[in-house]
Formats: sequence, C-alpha cells, structure tokens
Amino acid sequence: MHSNFELYKFVLLILNIENNMKKLFIGAFALTMLAACNTNEENLVTPDETESLSAGTAERRNCPSEEIRNTALQNSPELMAKYVDIENKTNKFVQDASLGRVLADGTVEIPVVVNVLYRTAAENISDAQIASQIATLNKDFGGTNADVNQIPQEFASVAAGDTKIKFRLDRVVRKSTTVRSWRANDAMKKTSSKGQNAFDPAHYFNIWVVGDMGGILGYATFPESSGLWNDGVVIAAKYFGNTSYAPYNLGRTATHEVGHYLNLRHIWGDGNCATDYVADTPTQQDKNFGTPSYPQYDICGGVSRSIQFMNYMDYVNDSAMYMFSAGQKTRMQAVTATSGPRAGLRLY
Ligand SMILES: [Zn+2]
Repeated sequence: MHSNFELYKFVLLILNIENNMKKLFIGAFALTMLAACNTNEENLVTPDETESLSAGTAERRNCPSEEIRNTALQNSPELMAKYVDIENKTNKFVQDASLGRVLADGTVEIPVVVNVLYRTAAENISDAQIASQIATLNKDFGGTNADVNQIPQEFASVAAGDTKIKFRLDRVVRKSTTVRSWRANDAMKKTSSKGQNAFDPAHYFNIWVVGDMGGILGYATFPESSGLWNDGVVIAAKYFGNTSYAPYNLGRTATHEVGHYLNLRHIWGDGNCATDYVADTPTQQDKNFGTPSYPQYDICGGVSRSIQFMNYMDYVNDSAMYMFSAGQKTRMQAVTATSGPRAGLRLY
C-alpha cells in the first residue's frame, strides 16, 4: 500500500499530466484510495505526534503549508473532493485560454456556426454577407460601433461599452431546400423537416439563415434551451448582415436576437411598464418603432421617465439602435461565465 503522502503526490501528478475529462474519473479513483488509507489509523496525525516547537528565530525560510494541507486532505474526503474540483476547473480555464475561446483580457470568444438554408440563389448568401454580420456583432458587443457617439449624454454613463463577448465564425453549412417560406416553429432546425440539424449546440452558437419568414425578421432561444437541438437564432436572409433591405439592413436584427440568446429581454418587458430585470434601462410602456427623437418620455407608475429607445432590445430601426446598457452586459456575462448556463461555449 502506498503511503498517503505518495497517493497525494499521485493525485497531483494525475492532475498535472492529464488534459482531458478522464482525470475526473482518475481523481475520483485516487480519492477512493485515499479514503481507504484513512481507515489506517497509523496514517492519522494525532496531537501526540506533533512536535513541540521552541521559541526562536528562523535560520532558513520554512513554509509548511503543503504539509499541513496534505494532512487536512488525507483526513477529509470533502476537502479532497473540493481540491480535485478546483484543479480540474483551473485546468479547463487554462485550456480555454490556449484554445483562444477566452482571450487574455477575459473576453469570451463564442464560436459561431451559420447554417444557410436556401431555395433561390439570392437566398444562398455570400461569405462576404456572413462576414459583415460577424463584424457587426463584434462592433455592437464590443462597443466599437460607429454610431456609439449618438448615445445621449443621459445614458452614456450606463452604456455597456465592451461586453467582453466576441464572435468568431467557425463554419458555414449550406443546404438547398424546397421550402419557400418558414414559420417560427423550429422546422428549419431539423434535417427531417427540410431544415438542418444544429452543429454541437452545447459548444457552438448556431444561427440559421432562412430565405423567408413572412413578417418575422428573426427569433431566438433563451439560455434555458442551452445545448438543446433547437438552441440558437434564426434570421431571415434579407436582414442578415449588411443588405439592401432598409430599414433593417445593418445587421442589428442579429444583435437583438443574440441579446435574447444571452438572456436579455425586450426593454419594455413584453408588457405595459413591465420589467426586463435590468436596473439601468428605464421602465417604458411599450416597444418603439422607426427612428424616435430623443428625449422621449413614458409614464410608468405615475412617474415620467426618459426612455432608452436606442437600446438594441427595443424595436426601432437598425440605424436608431446603438447601445446595450451596463446592466444588460452583466446579465450576458452571467450567462457566459464558467458557472453560467452557456459555459459550454467556453469549452471545446
Ligand atoms: Zn426580440
């Protein structure tokens, strides 16, 4: 039988050399072995065995932290379990960074799969149109959009700036289909219904670009759908990226839908003076359309408020929306954090 200290070293070694999920099982195996060793009372440190220290001055630096920890880990399976968990999560974090999905400044770079379902040549959108959409997402979520200077002074202090969420095109899947017009019923997300199955939705953000959805520009799933077969965003081709279909020609439909995908609600809370669970987006009575002029006031609960109609989560024209708020940024970061429902996007 190994000594407990050797086993502890063994666990450390496994955690250091294993770079895949196997280590979870090996860690558990080591844990079991340690627990077995703990039944041997000879390995337990009792007060009688501790040396009594005499007062004095250190001759050489001496730090017993690891030895003390070793004893504590040997005597507590709970503590050992936490230790193994911490090392596994640390390893994952290091791996994420090496894969480029979490950048050095903490930005989460979401891998995007664009599924193009086309019936006509025009619906089979170009790589350039797809690239323009990814670029717009990165500008809007990075706070580097050209119209950011239009944010009114009143709301500049609560503007999100850089949300620390970026998008990287991983692949484009193109498929010809006979469907002339789609409904917002997820049929486009299944190969069996003339659509295209999602690509690994637990780890990739899937977008379906369809030829036509009637009067619907796009729709999204929220984080409770993370990893499910239908998880992702659908956008009609005419409104995806830079197009000639004003007033929805600047790629802001996707910015809005990705907001939903990252747990943002409509800014009016889908009700009269309802909540979007964000403190720095003033309550408003309803959605706004077109290109409203600032300032615009709504009365909610008897209080008149200047509303933030230029928020991506309102319904205004592409050219009239140009900000997320700081509160919205926090909600989106909660979703992509290691503890969040879309943490899978950080992993390979
Ligand atoms: Zn919406």
